[in-house]
Amino acid sequence: MISVDEALRHVLDHSFPLASTSLELSTALGCTLAADVTSDIDSPPHDKSLVDGYALRTSDLGGANTQFKVLEEVTAGEMPSCKVTSDSVTRIMTGAAIPEGADAVVMLEETEARDAGTVLIRRSALPAGSNIMRRGTSLCRGDTVLQAGVTIRPLEVGLLSEVGRSQVLVQEVPRVAIVATGNELVPSDHRPESGQIRNSNGPMLTALVRSSGARAVDLGIGRDDHDILAQLVTEGLQSDVLILSGGVSAGVLDLVPDVLKATGVKQVFHKVNLKPGKPLWFGVSSPQGQTLVFGLPGNPVSGFVCFELFVRPALDRLAGRTASTAVRRRFRLACDHTHRGARPTYHPAAWEESVDDQPATAKPLAWRGSADLRSLTACNCLLVLPSGDYTLGAGQWVDGLVI
Ligand code: AMP
Ligand code: MG
Repeated sequence: MISVDEALRHVLDHSFPLASTSLELSTALGCTLAADVTSDIDSPPHDKSLVDGYALRTSDLGGANTQFKVLEEVTAGEMPSCKVTSDSVTRIMTGAAIPEGADAVVMLEETEARDAGTVLIRRSALPAGSNIMRRGTSLCRGDTVLQAGVTIRPLEVGLLSEVGRSQVLVQEVPRVAIVATGNELVPSDHRPESGQIRNSNGPMLTALVRSSGARAVDLGIGRDDHDILAQLVTEGLQSDVLILSGGVSAGVLDLVPDVLKATGVKQVFHKVNLKPGKPLWFGVSSPQGQTLVFGLPGNPVSGFVCFELFVRPALDRLAGRTASTAVRRRFRLACDHTHRGARPTYHPAAWEESVDDQPATAKPLAWRGSADLRSLTACNCLLVLPSGDYTLGAGQWVDGLVI
C-alpha cells in the first residue's frame, strides 16, 4: 500500500493548471490571477497631504504662534495654483496635492484661523516632510503589483481597480462533478426508512468543493448498479474532476473501481496507508489526464479527510494557485493521547491559540470512528499521528493540518 506522500505525489503529477480566461473584475472574486499585473500609474499621483491643515515651508516656523497669509484653499481633486512663500501658507485637505514651495503640512488642530485671510500656526517647529506622502510611495508605473497565482480577495479587487484593471486574466475555475453512491442513501429532505440513511456526503463534498473556490456540479445519488453508475460517471467525466463517494471498498456492491475501468478511467492507485481513508481510489480519464477521478470512501469522516489531503491540493493546482489552502502547523497536545494501529492516522482535533505567547494547543476529539460526523463538527484540525502503539503525554508536540 502506498503512503500518503506517494499518493499525493501521484495526484499532483496528474494535476495541471487549467486554461486562462479574461473576466470582468467585478466577477473575479476568488479566482486566481493567471498573469502578473503591472501598474499603469504612480500612486499617489502627486505629493499629497495626509491630513487637513496648512501646507507651509518648515524653515519659516521661527517660533510658536507665527501668523501667515492664507494663499488659497485646495481640496482633493484640485491642483494648487499658488507657490507657498516665506510669509504664506495654503489651506489643504487630506488627499490634495502639495503646492510648490511647501515641504510639510501642519494639522488643522495646531492652528487658529484669523480674520482677513490669515492663520496662526501654534507649532514652533515641524520636521520637513511631515504629513506628506510623496508621489509613487505606494507604487510606481511599471511596478509588478500582483503576481500570477495569487487568489483575488477583496483587497486585490481594490488594488486591481487602483491600477486600472477592469478586466483581469484569471485561471478557469475547476468544474467538479459529485456522485454519492449507495443503495442505502436517500436525499437529505427525505425521512430514512428502515435500512436507509441520509446522503450527507453529497452536500458535504459540494460544500468542500465550493470552499476551495471550485464550481460543484452535484449529480445526486447513484444506486449500486453497474449501468446506473456508468451513466453517472460518463456524465461526470464532462467535468475537470469527478468525485464519487462510496463503493470503493471490498463489499459485494462496491462497484466503483469496475465501473470506472469500464468507462475508460485509468487507475493510478487504489488504497493508501492511512486512517481513516484507506480505500481511496484515484485515476484519470485519458492518457492526457483530462478528468481527475477520486473514489472516496463512503464513511463521512474518511471522505472528508481524503478530500483535505488529496482533492483540495489537486483543486489548488488546477486553479493555478501558488499557495495551497491547506495549512500545516505544530501544536502542543492539550491532554494525554493514546494511538493504536499500524496506519498513520489523521485524528480530528480542536486547536486553539494560547494566551501569553505559549504555543497553540490541540485536543484530540473523542472520535468514534469513520462515520462520526457529529464529533467532527467540533474539529478545526487533523492531528497527524504516526503508526504504532504509543501514548503521547499532554504538552508533547504534534503536527496538525488546519482545516
Ligand atoms: P461504502 O464506502 O460505500 O462501503 O460506505 C461506507 C459507509 O459509509 C457505509 O456505512 C455507508 O452507509 C456510509 N455512506 C456511504 N455513502 C454515504 C453518504 N453519501 N452519506 C453518508 N454516509 C454514507
Ligand atoms: Mg456503498
